Amino acid sequence: MATDPFSSAKTYQLLIDVTESVQVIVGRLGSFHFPAGLYVYTGSALRNFEARVKRHLSPAKKMHWHIDYLLAAQGVGVREVFCFSEAECVVNQRTGGEIVVAGFGSSDCRSGCCSHLKRLDSSE
Ligand SMILES: [Zn+2]
Repeated sequence: MATDPFSSAKTYQLLIDVTESVQVIVGRLGSFHFPAGLYVYTGSALRNFEARVKRHLSPAKKMHWHIDYLLAAQGVGVREVFCFSEAECVVNQRTGGEIVVAGFGSSDCRSGCCSHLKRLDSSE
């Protein structure tokens, strides 16, 4: 590899496969129904970026972020990871899709995203 894809990245998107509809308790946010489909989760890490992304891909971990609960559910997996040098909310807001759970991953969001998890339109 000639270039390190993580060197300038601070925002990542996880492309997530939900193979069948699941009911997930997302920590203190509550219990939610996630219809089967492709989801995009947008997050960021200003430090230890690569470690954060690897953490999301690791099956064994303590539940901490909202996304941890979804990824731990049966039939849910990360299909692909994308990295960006722009701010998390900029990337999130230009991503189309339907908000399934308001407040998911956006507890500390100051840009009015409503949710940092979106379900992609199945026609896309
Ligand atoms: Zn945001």
